Amino acid sequence: MTAQRIDGKALAKRVRAEVAERAQAFEQRFGRKPGLDVVLVGEDPASQVYVRSKERAASRAGLIGNVHRLPAETTNEQLLALVRTLAQDASVDGILVQLPLPKHLDETRVLDAIPPEKDVDGLTPHNLGLLTAGRKGLRACTPSGSMRMLKEIGFELEGKRALVIGRSLLVGKSIAFMLLEKNATVTLAHSRTQDLAGEVGRADLVVAAVGRPGLVRGEWLKPGAVVIDVGINRLEDGSLTGDVDFEGAVERASFITPVPGGVGPMTIAMLLSNAVDAAEAIEAAR
Ligand code: NAD
Repeated sequence: MTAQRIDGKALAKRVRAEVAERAQAFEQRFGRKPGLDVVLVGEDPASQVYVRSKERAASRAGLIGNVHRLPAETTNEQLLALVRTLAQDASVDGILVQLPLPKHLDETRVLDAIPPEKDVDGLTPHNLGLLTAGRKGLRACTPSGSMRMLKEIGFELEGKRALVIGRSLLVGKSIAFMLLEKNATVTLAHSRTQDLAGEVGRADLVVAAVGRPGLVRGEWLKPGAVVIDVGINRLEDGSLTGDVDFEGAVERASFITPVPGGVGPMTIAMLLSNAVDAAEAIEAAR
């Protein structure tokens, strides 16, 4: 079997076109563009690349995409002051604090300062609570983008065994709840899991979100499994690769997301979609 690639780039383009239409309709109705503000602290090279992509994608889709670039030595108080200002600003609909923050900063306090209605990363306790309750709210972009890809290929999750590797709030835990909502039988594996190969071998769907190149061997996969590779790892030659041994996995899986060109572009598209959702909800509540 040779797996079909799930083309995240093409799907993301379609999602961005939908968002652009909604952004235009929003502007006609409310006389302003939806506003997405991204806060970047420090000089982490990967974060700088992600933020630039978000900035570009936002303006292309007809949103105002402001980026606040702060030096690495920014204090908690300075960062909190900025987030609180954005929280009060009526032209700002979405606030995204690019993670990870430099070590001396208190991520929890900063995230807690984002009002839930502007939390386009779906990381505040309020939005995580709504997600676990299966209620509507702003949801993390990478998991939402991954779910959209599964929908695109018509993968019926009900009753299927889904294995999520990685338990971060941003990716692993959030997608686990989304899969559960679709009635999959969900297993969450993490760094203490014994026999990861055995877990992978039982799964109809594997979502890998760890950050270790080649962690999931192709030969571990159940034949015909669907693979969503969230991992982004930079190799010494500068190229990007996922958490799944792609060459091996292609031989066994039915569908697989490439890295790059899979989940990454979908994440940005869903961020824009969340920003427009936030803007619409904020205007509806005014
Ligand atoms: P994280 O570091 O917060 O979490 C990693 C998780 O992997 C942890 O829960 C840990 O328990 C688990 N883990 C570590 N070693 C393991 C092992 N040997 N076996 C099983 N589990 C193990 O990372 P994150 O923020 O969730 O991101 C994960 C990966 O996804 C990274 O490569 C990141 O760059 C990538 N990512 C991609 C996108 C995207 O848009 N495509 C978005 C977010 C994150």
